[in-house]
Amino acid sequence: MRLTQSSSAALFSLFARSAAAHGRQLARHWTAEGIVAVALCLSVSASCRPKSRGAPAAERSGPSAAAPQARGCVPRISPRGITVWDADGRLLNARGVHLVDWDGFVANPTVTVSLHPPPDIGFPATATLRGDHPRLYFDLPSTVGEGGPEKHVRFWTASSVVTVRVAIFPDRDGEDEVHRLTLAVDGDESRSETVPVFVHDQDRNLPLLSRIVVDFSQDRTGFFSNAEARRVVEQAADDWAYFLADMGTDAVPAKDESTMIWNPDGFVSARDVDNSATYSGFLLYTYGIRGVEVRSGGEGSPRGKPPTAAGASLPLLRSGGLELEVRGNFNTLGWVMDTEPDTWWRSANRGREQNDLYSIVHHEMGHAHGFDRGYPRFRAAMEGDAKGLTSKDLADYHGGPLAIDSHAHFDGTIDPASGVGAFGYEYHGVMPARRWLITRTDLLALAAVGYALRPIAFDSWSDDRPECDGAPTGR
Ligand SMILES: [Zn+2]
Repeated sequence: MRLTQSSSAALFSLFARSAAAHGRQLARHWTAEGIVAVALCLSVSASCRPKSRGAPAAERSGPSAAAPQARGCVPRISPRGITVWDADGRLLNARGVHLVDWDGFVANPTVTVSLHPPPDIGFPATATLRGDHPRLYFDLPSTVGEGGPEKHVRFWTASSVVTVRVAIFPDRDGEDEVHRLTLAVDGDESRSETVPVFVHDQDRNLPLLSRIVVDFSQDRTGFFSNAEARRVVEQAADDWAYFLADMGTDAVPAKDESTMIWNPDGFVSARDVDNSATYSGFLLYTYGIRGVEVRSGGEGSPRGKPPTAAGASLPLLRSGGLELEVRGNFNTLGWVMDTEPDTWWRSANRGREQNDLYSIVHHEMGHAHGFDRGYPRFRAAMEGDAKGLTSKDLADYHGGPLAIDSHAHFDGTIDPASGVGAFGYEYHGVMPARRWLITRTDLLALAAVGYALRPIAFDSWSDDRPECDGAPTGR
């Protein structure tokens, strides 16, 4: 086994109008959901935070003593049931599926496997694929939940091959895990096969090099007197900030930065505030609103100054606002307040359910911190001739410029590695869309906006163990 470096280190206003447009876009998302009936069955810490409250990995993984270990040689077997193969033509039933949990709280890469039916059953045949951990997921259509993911597949003939993408929702603990997939032919003779899943966790939990400093002092609704609500926001801020390098920006003296703050009635009237104390990094005022649109927003401050490094201006902003609709997201059902990775599946952020506070905060923070017309390079990408954000890394990874719609969203973009919808396209990936995540595309976009990113190796995993000597054993 070895890590394969799939890329070298990933070095990675008009403002009210933009915010209003953004609201319409989100509204369209959940309206469309009523039309597209998809069986979606389908969380966060950082670095500088204590480990999440979940049980240790070994405990969560369930019994794995019977599973082959991810070292030594791979037992030879001759399965009677469905066989699972990787892209290199290796049988995975005993070898296992090797997933990577990348460093930081980012959408993880999928692994594509091929399923072959046993030839001596009746066709067409259907089969059920299940995972035994709530953070595992398959490509759509599939379901997720507390008991793990489930997906139904059909084999029309004995030579049918079904490909499935598999991935794991990120956690923050840096511990490898072992889970299991089961594959059973539907009907009287299931010929059930169990395939181990090895999760290679690359979380390093390094100290933050730059900060998104959350300031709740402008909240006049009382919403953020709730410690759980504050914790969700601070977690989302640290998750974004984890990927930032130290750009050597100068500290901002007290009273030197002015930030526009919407009044509690939403996107109607605003006031300006000056920072009360010296800070370093990006200052994000986070406060509640109760607006007629029943939606939240986020923006870089149109009143502020660019940050400086050794006195020279950078093409960025140094403050912004995140205004959170306290009653809910396009409804008044309230919020799911949760940062636990294992319960990432609780809300799909649709119209008739409590939405996930982390997801919406994560999104609006993305606007405030870079994906907004207030950022010169982002505005140029929206309005210029380039038809989107451009950089060599984006071209290499995404295949060309990253298109931005009028709502400052990467509408239509699915992150290649993870299959998850990129920023602003969160409902539309090919994997289950529940709690929203930073994608590698989003990080490359932040770099194109002007941020320096922490070097992170986005590795894949290659299991090059040999097969053991001896005759194959049946299963
Ligand atoms: Zn948006």
